[in-house]
Parts: sequence; structure tokens; C-alpha cells
Amino acid sequence: MTGLHVLLLTGSIIISRPSTVSVSKNCTRHNGRMACTLRGGSTSRTHSSKVHHKHNSRSRHFRAKSKKINNINKIQHKKSKAEHDGPMSVGKPWHGRLRNAARLAPEGKGYVIAPRTLQRRRNYGLAELVDMVKYAARTVRMRYPRSVLVVGDMSARHGGRVLGHKSHQSGRDVDLGFYLVDRRLRPRPVLDTFVWVDSFGRTKEPHPGLRFDVERNWALVEALLTNPIVRVKLIFVSHEVRDMLLKYAKAIQVPQALYRRAETVLHYFPNHGDHFHVRIQCPGGQDRCIP
Ligand SMILES: [Zn+2]
Repeated sequence: MTGLHVLLLTGSIIISRPSTVSVSKNCTRHNGRMACTLRGGSTSRTHSSKVHHKHNSRSRHFRAKSKKINNINKIQHKKSKAEHDGPMSVGKPWHGRLRNAARLAPEGKGYVIAPRTLQRRRNYGLAELVDMVKYAARTVRMRYPRSVLVVGDMSARHGGRVLGHKSHQSGRDVDLGFYLVDRRLRPRPVLDTFVWVDSFGRTKEPHPGLRFDVERNWALVEALLTNPIVRVKLIFVSHEVRDMLLKYAKAIQVPQALYRRAETVLHYFPNHGDHFHVRIQCPGGQDRCIP
């Protein structure tokens, strides 16, 4: 039997709550049952129960309110943690790092990662870069069935220097192989290496006899430049490839704005006669990304 039970059996107890009036509780045993009546200390019963009711509903209100605030805090904490834990591009493309990288799956709709890239684990980048590659490959595939985009190096999992590249350090760069076709215009993706093309779009050794498929390659450039979310900063190619693409875009009379954007974004860069080197702009919220 506890002390409380003893008190209940022997007479009255005092229930005291902070900042409210004291109430005495008189209990008597009647036909084996305990009956209690409340009596206010210095106040009447009605008044004291009103005060209690008011107090109870107020504390319920505060409890509910603080629970709500706690929940909001938890959500905000989770949210900021998620934002913090997402991929982060730090520094410049040629002197930077990558945190919590997003990974491009080895293959997907309309694309396959080159085996050498997979072996060296260079299929990491910002989520925007990964999404952009997937979006572009899917778009070209929908327009031209059986298209396969060969994806080369992106960044290493934690960014930093990547052998064979000056940039590709901060999760914003990706190398994409050209769409190539054979003499009967059948798609011929080459996986072991990127393939050089001359000003007529002809391939050289070690994969002669193929052609630069200007339709598909332009469709790729268009898909990259018209991505609704990710903005491309530049695409490095050779003079020959740039000329072929812009000539084709003019011939099929693409919208002026798109043509001008392609003219601005397609840059000549030495040693880029066998692939597109695409760099995206710093996405919003990437405070440590340097353009
Ligand atoms: Zn590159």
C-alpha cells in the first residue's frame, strides 16, 4: 500500500498545482466504494473547477503548440540535413572537389557508360549533371530509335584530379561520344574509345568507315540546350564538328534563339575532335561552386 492510498483511506488529501488554487479532496468509503468530494481551499468548488478547467485547456493548448513547433523544427532539421547531404560542387572545374556525389547508372534509356569510365569509377557528378545526361539520351532515343549515347568520364566520386583531364574535378563536366552510323545509316556506338571525325564527318582509325551522324548529334545538342532545369555553360568540340552542327541547324531552320545559343555554347577547344565535352553552370543553392 502506498502513502497515497493511506491518505485516501484515512481522510483528506491536498492536491496542489503550481500557480493554481489548492483544492482539498474529502474521501469516504460508502458500501465498499470510495466517494470523494472536492472543496476549494479558500475558494468555492465551482470557481476552483473553472480555474482547473481553464488551466487544463491552456496547458493542453501549450502542449499542442510546443509539439507542433517541435515537429516543424524536426522537419526543418531534416530538410537542411538533406540539402546539406545532397551532392555539392566545391571550387572550380579545374581545381575543385565533389561531395556526396550522384552516380550515373552504367546504362539507361538511350545511353551506356564506356567501360573504361566505369572501370576507373568516373561516373559521378552533381545530380543535375546526371539528370541532364539521362534526359538528353532519352530525348534523342525517342526521336531517333536505337540511338545509343556513349558516356565517357564525368568526375571521380570525391572529385579532385582525374588522370587525363584538366577539369572534371567538381562534378560539372561530362564527355559524350558522337553518334556514329555506318554506310547504311545504322547506329554504330563505339565503346572502347572516342572516334575522331574529319570535316566531312568521316571517322579515322581505329574505326574507319563510320560517319558522324549530324542529325542525331544536333538532336543531342538541342536536348542539352533546351533542358528545362539544367543550364549548360559550354560544349567543347573541334572546329570541324562545330561547323557541321551549326550548318545543319541553319539548314533545318531551328528557332533563331536556339541557333544563337548553340553558337555561344559550342566552343572550339584543341583535342576535342572525338567527343563533346559538356559543362553545366553552377546550379542554384551551390554556394561553394565557382563558375
Ligand atoms: Zn572532357
